[in-house]
Amino acid sequence: MNIKLPNNFSRVKGFMDPMEGECLYRTALIASENAPIVEIGSYCGKSTIYLGMACKENNSIVFAIDHHTGSEENQVGWEYHDSELFDDETGRINSFPSFRRNIRDANLEASVIPIVSSSALVSKFWTIDLSMVFIDGGHSMEAAKADLDNWSDKVIHGGFLAIHDVFPNPDDGGRPPYEIYKLAITSKKFKEVESVKSLKILQRVS
Ligand code: MG
Repeated sequence: MNIKLPNNFSRVKGFMDPMEGECLYRTALIASENAPIVEIGSYCGKSTIYLGMACKENNSIVFAIDHHTGSEENQVGWEYHDSELFDDETGRINSFPSFRRNIRDANLEASVIPIVSSSALVSKFWTIDLSMVFIDGGHSMEAAKADLDNWSDKVIHGGFLAIHDVFPNPDDGGRPPYEIYKLAITSKKFKEVESVKSLKILQRVS
């Protein structure tokens, strides 16, 4: 598949591999015909652009949820800290200005609705059925498990649950995304339909 990525794309910061991005796009293209999509963990909008481009083709929407203050590993002194995103006022990173610029430059403002909040808080008030949920938020067990528990039941039958950073081998990366992937499979509510690098695509079957 040849995706025509926006001109600004090479400047968009993020951790989404191009093959994983293409898989997200393909899945979102099928999903978004039926209902909106939720992304948990947008950072600077790289994966949001793949999802948003698919939604745009179907006149659908991706709700992009992120508190935009970064995960632990994005803060000062950690491996994935980016000083360009540092906010003097809060002492944490702030990825929202960069996110907005990237979505605007990609012409996706009518296909992406940013929600600047914690995913746990948003989930308490969420009533819209979803065709796809992409979990790419906090990597602590607490955060990852909460995202699975709070959001997986909002996926419609036949819809998709995508999980990023799933590393079966602990040497390759942290375990919580892998643990919630296993929980989703053992729940029998989801079956795996595709796997590209650290991205798993599950489909709701019951
Ligand atoms: Mg990720």
